[in-house]
Amino acid sequence: MWRRNFRQTPIQYIMTMLLLFFGTLALSLFASWKVKSAYNHYSKVPASSGYTGAQIAQRILDLNNIRDVTIQATPGELTDHYDPSNRRLVLSEKNYYGTSVAALGVSAHECGHAIQHKELYAPLQWRMAAVGITGIASQVVMWVPFIGMFGGLIPYKLAITIMALGFGVLMLFQLVTLPVEFDATARAKKVLASTGAVAMGQEYNAMSKVLDAAALTYVAAFVSTLSYFLYYLLRMMGGRNDD
Ligand SMILES: [Zn+2]
Repeated sequence: MWRRNFRQTPIQYIMTMLLLFFGTLALSLFASWKVKSAYNHYSKVPASSGYTGAQIAQRILDLNNIRDVTIQATPGELTDHYDPSNRRLVLSEKNYYGTSVAALGVSAHECGHAIQHKELYAPLQWRMAAVGITGIASQVVMWVPFIGMFGGLIPYKLAITIMALGFGVLMLFQLVTLPVEFDATARAKKVLASTGAVAMGQEYNAMSKVLDAAALTYVAAFVSTLSYFLYYLLRMMGGRNDD
């Protein structure tokens, strides 16, 4: 029954697309606002241990016997990342030189990725293996609606199937990103507490707020790609053969 019901009129189609677009946009804007405001607030709260982000990162790498990863500073805000192909731990200047609870939290989180890399943590391996196809999928879902649906160059059913597959790949990529990010954050919290870099109580809670807000952005990205994937999957199964 729903199959027939899912055949949309052009107006319904446009309304659904607008709802999807603005709904997922609002979600990701909310998530990035949340992480930015938590970061802005807690990057002004110094940790009593006096460690800088770079110092705690070096300490954590040493504790894990990781000798082949270099730590470097980069400009920009929240540009921190771990680069597995070059074994580089890249920290934004504010976190590299900073002694705030936010700086220590972010630095320790990036170390979590370096440790995952060393331990061949499975979800990180899957994520690294999927980077190439994910790049292709994001190009595909961007261009197919233009050349296919609006230009009419690709048959409708084929275009919908390609879109469902493309968003399926993006959704799976965001899905495996979740354990990678949650695990890195769990490792960060644990090591910051055990080394005393962040004092239990207020400092620990503040650091947790920053890292939990950051994790929310990955949940938002997953929910967005899942929504688009389900949308195209339903349309695909709705089987509009009339065009
Ligand atoms: Zn991360």
